Amino acid sequence: SITVFWFRRDLRLHDNTGLYEALKNEQNVLPIFIFDRHILDDLEDKKDLRVAYIYAALQQIQQSLADDLQSSLKVYYDYPEQVFEQLTQAGITLNGETYQVKSVYTNHDYEPYARQRDEKVQQILSNSGVAWHSFKDQVIFEKQEVLTNADKPYTVFTPYSKKWKHHLTDAHLQERLVASHAQNLLKLSPQLPLMPLEKTGFVDINKSFSSKTIKKQLVIDYQQNRDFPAVQGTSRLSVHLRFGTVSIRKIVKAAQKYSDTWLNELIWREFYMMILYSFPHVVDKSFKPAYDCIQWRNNPDEFKRWCEGTTGYPIVDAGMRELNTTGFMHNRVRMITASFLTKHLLIDWRWGEAYFAKKLLDYDLSANNGGWQWAAGSGCDAAPYFRVFNPYAQTEKFDKQRQYIRQWVPEFELSRYPAPIVEHKFARQRALDTYKAGLSKE
Ligand code: FAD
Repeated sequence: SITVFWFRRDLRLHDNTGLYEALKNEQNVLPIFIFDRHILDDLEDKKDLRVAYIYAALQQIQQSLADDLQSSLKVYYDYPEQVFEQLTQAGITLNGETYQVKSVYTNHDYEPYARQRDEKVQQILSNSGVAWHSFKDQVIFEKQEVLTNADKPYTVFTPYSKKWKHHLTDAHLQERLVASHAQNLLKLSPQLPLMPLEKTGFVDINKSFSSKTIKKQLVIDYQQNRDFPAVQGTSRLSVHLRFGTVSIRKIVKAAQKYSDTWLNELIWREFYMMILYSFPHVVDKSFKPAYDCIQWRNNPDEFKRWCEGTTGYPIVDAGMRELNTTGFMHNRVRMITASFLTKHLLIDWRWGEAYFAKKLLDYDLSANNGGWQWAAGSGCDAAPYFRVFNPYAQTEKFDKQRQYIRQWVPEFELSRYPAPIVEHKFARQRALDTYKAGLSKE
């Protein structure tokens, strides 16, 4: 019999808790990955960069398993429940030999869909007497490990981050030495062929994704550079953290050593995960219920111009074009574009959130939802609603030489560049009046 290790948001062979535990405790461990039809079949863009990213990561894993370990990755395109139904009923046939599955190891996945999926899979396994072992891996502190002194979830970041740091010990950051038990991987010769991505209906765009090494100097200079979108001053690790192609433990170690400001950003990631876990209503409702009384204008033409990056506000347009072209947007500009949509155009934050979800390579439900609700003022620990970002002042402060704007909106000084979609002072006052009226209805 064999043990299955199921990769999800942890696409790496090093410092992987679930994989380490499987190899330490079991023999004949087969790593698998499932392209989940529940998710993939709903994605319209068959050139989705995230699917290509996952595929590139799987190729790397397959290569390392072949080169160093005479083992192999089994990839499926299916519904996870069906994969496990089949595994438990009929076993798994590899290179003509059929194996029974004894246990399944994996790492915790916290989003609402993932939790439901895992419950179903656990049920299927337990019906057949197959053991399920799941581990914390993608965060340092999960679920409700960091609580107030009254055992309640925090809703304000600063005290949460203090408690988070207070709890942190060297043991939390200890590397899981997968290689020391690698002999327990299932040996397969010849190696299983990697399923071609085309089988899923997606296109393999053969994009190589940038390296994931952490540059010490970048971390040291982070505080000074992080707000300037024209400067490569942030780590660009978000996509790696999203898919687990880096280990959070390694990154937190570097942050601890070189930059408390950067460490705080990593803690924001866990803060929003904790918020989503503890207050799941935020998925489609405002964290503060009063904010669901705001009368959004929701003008579809204006929304379209925001999406395309033709609002006539150069910093907003630059951000949206960066997003549309690369799948990334600098954090400062995410804040500006989100504020612009919700305050200047009075469009429901959920529209913007959904658009980002479609486009961002690093899309993460908790961080995206947290970021949008922060910008709209509706979230926990959000900016007060009357603080409306002025896109011109933000430009003066963070892109004074217009370097970032010039890169994405080269025509911004020419006559063919559109006039502002709405006048700033007017829009600001309209936002204040609308928010005030909405909030007073509660
Ligand atoms: P760095 O500045 O180098 O930070 C390091 C890591 O810390 C990031 O990779 C990320 O994992 C985490 N982090 C940093 N800032 C935040 C934050 N405010 N909230 C949560 N985690 C953070 N981040 C996502 O990962 N996915 C999203 O879908 C997402 N949507 C956002 C939407 C809006 C409206 C806003 C304002 C922010 C959003 N963020 C999101 C947070 C942030 O913009 C990105 O994490 C960051 O820009 C990624 O770049 P980096 O890796 O260079 O970050």
